[in-house]
Amino acid sequence: MSTPKKKKVSQPGAADLWVATWLHQYGHLQVPLKDLPKLSVNDTAMQSAVSSIQAFDANGDNCSLVHHNRNIEPDGLFGPATAQLMSLPRCGDRDPTLEERAEEAKEFASMGMTEAATGVGSWPVPGCNPDDSQRNSRHSVRLYVDSRRATSKQKSYLDRCIRGVQECCAEAGLQVYIVNNKADAELSLAFESIKGNVIGYFYLYNLGANTCNTSLRGMLDVNYEPDWYQFCLLIVHEALGHGLGHQHTSGGIMNPSLLRTPTRPGTEWPTYKNDGSSGNTAWRRMTSWFGGQAVPVPGVDPVDPVDPVDPVDPVPDGNYVVTGELQVRVLDGTPGGKPVTGKLIVVPK
Ligand SMILES: [Zn+2]
Repeated sequence: MSTPKKKKVSQPGAADLWVATWLHQYGHLQVPLKDLPKLSVNDTAMQSAVSSIQAFDANGDNCSLVHHNRNIEPDGLFGPATAQLMSLPRCGDRDPTLEERAEEAKEFASMGMTEAATGVGSWPVPGCNPDDSQRNSRHSVRLYVDSRRATSKQKSYLDRCIRGVQECCAEAGLQVYIVNNKADAELSLAFESIKGNVIGYFYLYNLGANTCNTSLRGMLDVNYEPDWYQFCLLIVHEALGHGLGHQHTSGGIMNPSLLRTPTRPGTEWPTYKNDGSSGNTAWRRMTSWFGGQAVPVPGVDPVDPVDPVDPVDPVPDGNYVVTGELQVRVLDGTPGGKPVTGKLIVVPK
């Protein structure tokens, strides 16, 4: 996709339509679809939408530093920094509207989220995960990853990333089980070739309607092959972020374009806890849903069960022919008699 240039003519052109379509697609421009071709970046509605993405995506400062040597100003003016911001690899899910952002801020301000902080049960409804023997006393969710179409580079670090996801969620009180059967999973991820600058997306993030039989699906882009850590962030963002009901936030793991966020001290894994997002909404939501008490990561240092010894079939009563040599001992263990051959009669004690 070519980088749009700032337009100075009054008639809307291809670049204006690209900007308008993009802002509309990602939730920053609320106008009817048919009106998009009429808009230019100089229109008030467009400037308001440009200002919205400038203020929301925390990578805006990085882009502005490159072009203007200062942090971004949400002035609604479409220039090279904003063009770069809108061309970054990003999640395909839309950003919350201004109204939704205000609503969420209000929700957190009133600590309304704590009402869900029971710390009991599984996701999406209590007791869904039969793999968890303590499913009625802690939260767990099953994740299936279909990696058949992943590239060899993605496959090379996929296991490491999935472990990162498990660590990250265990911090907040959620156990993530990896299952090999899609039908068993509440969350599933697959790989496909996604057009444009979208590197992944999740189908929906509405927890309300889910049941044990609900499977939420997400996609990862086979054309996105960053280093392992960045890829871990993408998986956390898609599967556990959107999959557990998080919307995009300004900054942090749920920023629409991926940011490098701090790891948990002492580990290499991404974490919601120290992700640096404003208000840390993803972490607060995670802890309020899942109690905030760390739980063990499933499958870490598993103790292999000792294979049970096959029970020896008891020798049934009857007459037997000794086919080899039989040494007969008396019950106290002292040897006695000579080896015998011939018939043996087994009788009950
Ligand atoms: Zn997203």
